[in-house]
Amino acid sequence: MKLATKMIHAGAEPDPSTGAIMTPIYQTSTFVQAAPGDHKGFEYARSQNPTRFALEAAYAEIENGKFGLAFSSGVAATDAVMKLLQPGDEVICANDMYGGTYRLFTKVYEKFGIRFHYVNMQQADNMKAHVNANTKLIWTETPTNPLMNITDIAAVSAIAKANGLLLCVDNTFASPYLQNPLDLGADIVMHSATKYLGGHSDVIQGCLVMNDPALKDQLYFIQKSCGAVPGPMDCFLVLRGIKTLHVRMQRHCENGEKVAHWLRQHPKVGQVYWPGFDDHPNHAIAKQQMRGYGGMISFELKNDSIEEARRVLSSTKVFSLAESLGGVESLINHPASMTHASIPREERLKNGLSDALIRLSVGIEDADDLIDDLAQAIG
Ligand SMILES: *Cc1c(COP(=O)(O)O)cnc(C)c1O
Repeated sequence: MKLATKMIHAGAEPDPSTGAIMTPIYQTSTFVQAAPGDHKGFEYARSQNPTRFALEAAYAEIENGKFGLAFSSGVAATDAVMKLLQPGDEVICANDMYGGTYRLFTKVYEKFGIRFHYVNMQQADNMKAHVNANTKLIWTETPTNPLMNITDIAAVSAIAKANGLLLCVDNTFASPYLQNPLDLGADIVMHSATKYLGGHSDVIQGCLVMNDPALKDQLYFIQKSCGAVPGPMDCFLVLRGIKTLHVRMQRHCENGEKVAHWLRQHPKVGQVYWPGFDDHPNHAIAKQQMRGYGGMISFELKNDSIEEARRVLSSTKVFSLAESLGGVESLINHPASMTHASIPREERLKNGLSDALIRLSVGIEDADDLIDDLAQAIG
């Protein structure tokens, strides 16, 4: 089935009790049994909920995977993957990734004896020096948040397979419309469904998708044992969001391209980070593994003082100043003080994330209005 058809029909079956075309919100904590153990496959809603199951089937389908699992946030999905590990295990991860993932790794999991090696994954071979007998997992994100670097998923997967390591890819920025890591050899795909999958800035949720039944059993066990499950209303919202993912992403891509090119020719704008540019350092790989370049763009002003960045950040009228991304409305964000403040300043600077960097989540409004807004804000 083609992508557009899949987005609309993924996970959707008429409700068996009424024929309702939309999956009902099964707002219930438990299910009545006819006799002890005699039930319809649903016992208690932390373990089974029909609305969540419909969404989990949709997650699997749109990522070309066999199994999907929904979590109460993207971070909870990441947390479930980390719980596959034991004290003493080591993880190789990208040195440029979502601040909350870095915080979870350094502030929570290091304490439990997991070791993390942060490497520049733009060259997959950089990882090789860190592989040893304790290495269990490779964690990467592509495009990265906020510097829009690209990891060659197939190359990283080859190294993972050669060394018997699990590879998990955070696919939040691309969305399944632009990129499918399982097809490129990843073992697990993770999403913050809060972003493009939900698409309307009205829900917090995460997911994991995988093909291996044994891995799915382990992660399902963690999901029900640790309990970070989303409620049925939130599952309904994401199911609804997924139905328009392809249409939204097309417009995010078109608007992103227009805004990126406009920014680049602006005399007051310095570096613009967007993987669609021919001269982006990883453009060739982006072109190979993605079907488009999305609506996430970061840029620096030539006047790289933090005051100038703050002035622009406070002057937009259509772009709202807020954390998060992937909704229909455009957002502007200051990674150093907002989304990535949990990463120490020296670490940020070392990885090329300057205090003056501005990140845009280009929405699906009219591109002319977005450009006019940035024009008046940059001045
Ligand atoms: C937002 C985000 C997360 C965390 O997801 P939550 O839903 O906020 O918990 C993880 N990775 C990336 C790339 C994100 O943008």
